Amino acid sequence: MADNKDTTINCPACGKPMKKIYMPAQGVNLDVCVDGCGGIYFDNREFSKFDEPSEDISPLNEVLKDKEFIKVDENITRVCPVCGSDMVKNYASSKQEVQVDECYHCGGKFLDYGELDKIRSQYNTEGERSADVMKKLYSDVGVNLIDRQALTGTYRQQQGKSNGLKIGIILALIWLIYKNSIITNAFNGNFNNIEFAVVISVAIAIVLICIGIGSIIGRTSK
Ligand SMILES: [Zn+2]
Ligand SMILES: [Zn+2]
Repeated sequence: MADNKDTTINCPACGKPMKKIYMPAQGVNLDVCVDGCGGIYFDNREFSKFDEPSEDISPLNEVLKDKEFIKVDENITRVCPVCGSDMVKNYASSKQEVQVDECYHCGGKFLDYGELDKIRSQYNTEGERSADVMKKLYSDVGVNLIDRQALTGTYRQQQGKSNGLKIGIILALIWLIYKNSIITNAFNGNFNNIEFAVVISVAIAIVLICIGIGSIIGRTSK
């Protein structure tokens, strides 16, 4: 872990030289932009020693207390003050509320003024933080599975309906051929209103019932 103990680094947000603040509880030096924007630079792996409310950061609060800091644009890409790589913006936790700048090359992190307090207020313990990551992961994967199941369920139901329609048409045609005398009579002018209507209604009912059965079979099949 490169704890840049001796070299003064310049703030990646405002360019001012950062001050080394010794944090006895963690045993590390933090680089703090005391005379500029109030941002904090954490070396590789230092950050996890600061993100829970039980972790003492009083020396840092002491330095930052009652100070006016210059405003900086939080959206521009920053360059890591230790190794010179472009930093990447990432959410600090699965709550996705606070974005911090991370250096994938040396593992450094930069937080704008106020971000550390927000992150520390999100969880009480490291256990809660990890539990939330698992919960988020679980719900993402769960939603995915349900979506896919719903999709295939709907698809199977559509297939069932379409199969039901085909079978229904065939059965209805058989029914109509069986009752062909009534239809032939109707076309020959020997028209019996009620008989004709019943035959046609039954044919339509056969088709509809087959579609319904197909739909149920499709929906419930695995
Ligand atoms: Zn700064
Ligand atoms: Zn770096």
